[in-house]
Amino acid sequence: MQKDKFEFVVIGGGAVGCGVAYSLVRAGKPDVLLVERADDVGEVTTSQGAGLCGQMRNSVDRTKLAMHSAQTFRDLEADASVKPDWNEVGSIRIAFSDEAVDQFDELKSVADSCGLEGEMIDLREARKRWPPMQFDSVKAVLWCPTDGYMLPKSLVNAYRHECERMGAQFSMGTAVEEIVLKDGRISGVKTNRGEVTCRYVINAAGAHAYHIAKLAGLEFPIVPVRHEYFVTVPLEGLAPTLPCFRIPDMTLYGRVAEGGLLLGGWEPAALHADPRAYSMEEMAPAISPDWAVLDSFEKKMIHLFPESQKTEKSRVGKGWPTFTPDGQFIIGESSRVKGFVMAGGCNAHGISGSAGIGRLLVESLFDDAPSDYVKSLSPDRFTEASWDWAKASVQARRIYETYYGIECC
Ligand SMILES: Cc1cc2nc3c(=O)[nH]c(=O)nc-3n(C[C@H](O)[C@H](O)[C@H](O)COP(=O)(O)OP(=O)(O)OC[C@H]3O[C@@H](n4cnc5c(N)ncnc54)[C@H](O)[C@@H]3O)c2cc1C
Repeated sequence: MQKDKFEFVVIGGGAVGCGVAYSLVRAGKPDVLLVERADDVGEVTTSQGAGLCGQMRNSVDRTKLAMHSAQTFRDLEADASVKPDWNEVGSIRIAFSDEAVDQFDELKSVADSCGLEGEMIDLREARKRWPPMQFDSVKAVLWCPTDGYMLPKSLVNAYRHECERMGAQFSMGTAVEEIVLKDGRISGVKTNRGEVTCRYVINAAGAHAYHIAKLAGLEFPIVPVRHEYFVTVPLEGLAPTLPCFRIPDMTLYGRVAEGGLLLGGWEPAALHADPRAYSMEEMAPAISPDWAVLDSFEKKMIHLFPESQKTEKSRVGKGWPTFTPDGQFIIGESSRVKGFVMAGGCNAHGISGSAGIGRLLVESLFDDAPSDYVKSLSPDRFTEASWDWAKASVQARRIYETYYGIECC
């Protein structure tokens, strides 16, 4: 670290921390130090992400947030010298039930009101867009041409490069050990590499955001929930330009990756970790691929894509994205500890949401009249109302299990 005084210290160099740092710098606040205890940015949950970015959401606020993220990825791809590897291949959303068709109609009307391009396409058109897929008993397909995917590690590298170019500092191998308060507000952090004073600490520590908040005397229901996908070996006919896909009736999503099929899904019986059961210094529990769950994704997919059956897998993505009991991000400054700012609980879209989360955080701190949406994400909702871990973890798991019902991401 070249200096020891900053306006902002961002804790955590995953997609959220890097997206927040980028948004601050873009908002004319470059006096930022991002500290990451790993040797590089994006090494923990972010490196495991599938990288999908879907913009069709069930509310105007969420849709606009996702549109802002997609625009950021597009701009970085076009203008930055380090690229996020954004592939604007579009996406198809496939319905097998009347309920899903109704949901698509709603998504389409929200998209229309946000100026997001999207249309229902017939099965002939769907076959043209994804030739290897069998659309026989499909009831509807919703197409969004500006969706796509990026490579999560490339995205954080792009954010970092732009931040450093504009004057922010990134310090790897730097673990926050203590938060320093003076007269009830943030005055700095102590790290394994020395003390830094700052006006704001931004907690973007992912599955350790609970522990960082505890250092400031605050407690938030940030519940890590296991999530997995697999990637098959390369298969004929899978071009990287094929659209991403989501199948809400089967709770599956996917895209082409490394010439094979990346297939992930939301499990009907989610598994969570209790952050109180591991310390700040420890990693979240190790995950071994759960083949019973991964095979169940493959089985569901066979009807649509028979080639995926019993195909050799080249790798498994797995990790602990964090969920909140109300399925909303936790963004903004705590009114109990001034200067302590949350950027957590990203409910499994912290990569695609990263630029939008950063923008909301900037709005929460510096806008004289932040929107009702931004106010609704405040950490104060958990410090002012009573909650308990038993209920919070059940609710957070429920958000995961019904992901496409609630979030439509
Ligand atoms: C299998 C899988 C697939 C996914 N697919 C997608 C997808 O397609 N699209 C999408 O948007 N999202 C996806 N997600 C979710 C996404 O990965 C997460 O929402 C996102 O990566 C969370 O980013 P983060 O920055 O909050 O956390 P992390 O990436 O975990 O970053 C937190 C960082 O904080 C650091 N840290 C912790 N404690 C300290 C400390 N004391 N001092 C310094 N640093 C510290 C950690 O080392 C870590 O690097 C997926 C997740 C998984 C597991």
